[in-house]
Amino acid sequence: MQEIQTNSKETIVTHDMHDGRHYGAVTHPIYQNSLFTFETHEELEEALAFEVSSIIYTRGNNPTVRALEERLAELEGGEEARCFASGMAAISAAVLSTVQAGDHIVCVDGCYGPARRLMEEYLVKFQIDTTFVDGKDLLEAQNAVRPNTRLIYLESPTSMLFELQDLEQFAALAKKIGAKTIIDGSWASPCFQSPLSHGIDMVVHSMTKYISGHSDLIGGVVIGAKQHLDQLFRQEFQLFGGILHPQSANLFMRGLRTLPLRMHKLQENGLKVAHYLENQSFIIKMNHPGLKSHPQHELYRSQMSGSGSLFSFETHIPMESMRCWANQLQYFRKGISWGGFESLVYMRNQPDNRVIVRLYVGLEEPDDLINDLKQAFASIEA
Ligand SMILES: *Cc1c(COP(=O)(O)O)cnc(C)c1O
Repeated sequence: MQEIQTNSKETIVTHDMHDGRHYGAVTHPIYQNSLFTFETHEELEEALAFEVSSIIYTRGNNPTVRALEERLAELEGGEEARCFASGMAAISAAVLSTVQAGDHIVCVDGCYGPARRLMEEYLVKFQIDTTFVDGKDLLEAQNAVRPNTRLIYLESPTSMLFELQDLEQFAALAKKIGAKTIIDGSWASPCFQSPLSHGIDMVVHSMTKYISGHSDLIGGVVIGAKQHLDQLFRQEFQLFGGILHPQSANLFMRGLRTLPLRMHKLQENGLKVAHYLENQSFIIKMNHPGLKSHPQHELYRSQMSGSGSLFSFETHIPMESMRCWANQLQYFRKGISWGGFESLVYMRNQPDNRVIVRLYVGLEEPDDLINDLKQAFASIEA
């Protein structure tokens, strides 16, 4: 049989392509094992000598988790992937794999809060300093670089204001100074952005969000070059031990089956709701890179092939009224995570009294969601 090669995300997530050992099972079995044993002691010694690729102990390689990791690497177009117990475990491992005591990091200002805290509060105890930059302005980032800068940390787009970084420019800057680049790609998922193809070294995802897709799992992944990921395996992966459980890996694989399908539908729903909001007079700014009015829409089109369904808008309606508005919503539940089937709202009051309203648009009928937003605005006489 001639082997067919595919780049289709839909095809990649549909077939497990595992060997004939599993009775033709269409899904990968769950290896609910801590331990794997050997017939002879020589075989055990051989496996230990090649620990990165051997199945010995689940705080290392587990066949179910490996199946998920291989799938994720393929989806991102990367050589290797390692899964973790949470997105933050993946982010911490990736960041720590790039820096030594005394190094310097350049990080995008609007990155995920706990990732920011890792750099701003925690890494200082290893004398690792971080300069936070806007991310829209390459010159500012160039000026922030120091002789000891070893990491440029990106999140494009950011997940509250949805600002992009030019991936190729940042990758080029990092190469010039001998630093690594990491991007948090959770918003685009592996479906709508391929940062490795733009020269970024490592992609991290909070799998808790779109990859799980059902608000019932927590996990993370780091994807990148095999050489770097193998070193990360020996150090941050095995030493911190924040591994993904095989049961969870199996459920993430289930989520992956419909990831491309969900992403396309979520994109459509999100844009429909965003287009409705864009025309409302009480909204002073929309933050959704998929809208033509977004100041970085051209950059969006050049480095992404679609958009997630999490976005925000800004209004001068006072926070007090907006709380009443949010509480009036029937379909948008009040919550901070996203990526599941259900729509969500989360608001933040800015020092200048603007309210930033972040909406996650789920898989409900978008017209129902729009009607819900309308009736809630009517209830506060907006
Ligand atoms: C949720 C989130 C994370 C962290 O993921 P956990 O699985 O909760 O640890 C990282 N980045 C972004 C953009 C997120 O939304």
